[in-house]
Amino acid sequence: DRVVPKRALLSVSDKTGLIEAARTLAGLGVELVSTGGTRTAIANAGLAVKDISELTGFPEMMDGRVKTLHPIVHGGLLGVRDAPEHAKAMAEHGIGGIDIVYVNLYPFEQTVASGAGYETCIENIDIGGPAMIRSAAKNHGYVAVCTELADLEEVLAELKEGGATTLSLRKTLAARAYARTAAYDAAISSWFAGALGETAPGRRAFAGELVQTMRYGENPHQAAAFYREANPRTGLATARQLQGKELSYNNIADTDAALELVSEFDPAAGAAVAIIKHANPCGVALGSDLSDAYRRALQCDPVSAFGGIVAVNRRLDAAAAREIVKIFTEVVVCPEADEDAIAVFAKKKDLRLLITGGLPNPREAGVLFKQVSGGFLVQGRDTAHITPADLKIVTKRQPTEAEVRDMLFAFTVAKHVKSNAIVYARDGQTAGIGAGQMNRKDSARIAAIRAAEAAEQAGLPESLAKGSACASDAFFPFADGLLQAVEAGATAVIQPGGSIRDQEVIDAADQAGIAMAFTGVRVFRH
Ligand code: 5GP
Repeated sequence: DRVVPKRALLSVSDKTGLIEAARTLAGLGVELVSTGGTRTAIANAGLAVKDISELTGFPEMMDGRVKTLHPIVHGGLLGVRDAPEHAKAMAEHGIGGIDIVYVNLYPFEQTVASGAGYETCIENIDIGGPAMIRSAAKNHGYVAVCTELADLEEVLAELKEGGATTLSLRKTLAARAYARTAAYDAAISSWFAGALGETAPGRRAFAGELVQTMRYGENPHQAAAFYREANPRTGLATARQLQGKELSYNNIADTDAALELVSEFDPAAGAAVAIIKHANPCGVALGSDLSDAYRRALQCDPVSAFGGIVAVNRRLDAAAAREIVKIFTEVVVCPEADEDAIAVFAKKKDLRLLITGGLPNPREAGVLFKQVSGGFLVQGRDTAHITPADLKIVTKRQPTEAEVRDMLFAFTVAKHVKSNAIVYARDGQTAGIGAGQMNRKDSARIAAIRAAEAAEQAGLPESLAKGSACASDAFFPFADGLLQAVEAGATAVIQPGGSIRDQEVIDAADQAGIAMAFTGVRVFRH
């Protein structure tokens, strides 16, 4: 299981720490072989190093596209030393074994991130590097493969201690190596999809980079980890945590829901706050500033908001921070924060504060994954965005301008509520939210109960749903759900329409004297 290395192949784009590592290897009696730039760097430091061309008898060619793609190299990486056939082939063709590979790839991800043009990105797709990594990893029985300096340092530590690499380390390195090439290919394929304006789901590779492993998942007996996509959209994956304990699996899922919801509201148009519990909003509001928006969001359901997650759509200020810390909150997420707002949170040690550096773009195309037994479903993100022009008024009564604003606000919130979703809203404030029920009528009833209780808690004479707009994420299959909304106090209803009983529902709305608009767009969230 122990391999005493005789030869190492070094071919790296990022040459940080290279010389020191090469010197250590040479000092341990390992022969060094390298490609053009790497070889020059090592030779300039006064170390003996062989050019790969000396082994292959071929020069590097085609702007470096072909450097190491040669049987001498891949035979040296893939040959099973103990298999007589392999050993014979190696001897016959003068193929020397390579025992250590250190390759870090052309910086494709950084090139894309720098905003480079198409041709430059293409030129930065490494071909020979991943090929060597994959060959070496496959043959981990004999070869130690390193894709970053830290890997090589682990190998050097073993060599210094026992003069050989162990199988267990070589296996670990192989697993890391395939993770690296998978992430590299995922970065290329997702950049390609973007460059082609390709939004078709399923064309994009599914791979990510490990961000953190967690103590547990949704429940304590489930293992869990958080991965970041290659070139992630702004949002949770770009967030910086300033304080508080490590985020749990549920924290991350809920914080994401909060952030995605609040991002629907253009910060230039107004301050918005969303409070989330168990992936559903328990209060969402617009306001004159974030403090005002927070107070209004909280008013919708102060009981559920306890231990919730708060997302804001603007730079967080100290006044809003002081409002938020009045009750126990698990996580606060914001695009940016003032220093004195950060100072307010610093006193609440357990509160986790996340700064994302911007808002996710709700209209950005992308794909969503959902696992099913033995496979996974892929669909495009729900980028639906309803404007006044999209509304088809189907009742005799036309909605007022204020009702239209509330309809659109309520429908936008409903898009982020688990189905069946019913949302009552008034003056840019959710009044009652009914989530996740198996029938629409129950959701409407629960939302009405919440609106009445919220008013009671706030000492208001009538339900928050009085005079509200009611949004339904999918059509009302019968008039009963609509009548429930009317009973709760709604004077306007927004829903996709499209039921075979639409006329029955429209007649009921006319009879109640309310206004109703169809969006023609359904916003299920299961
Ligand atoms: P150097 O600076 O030594 O000239 O080049 C090192 C880089 O070349 C490494 O990032 C390595 O992955 C890459 N590389 C090595 N062999 C090949 C090859 O045959 N084709 C391509 N495209 N890249 C290679």
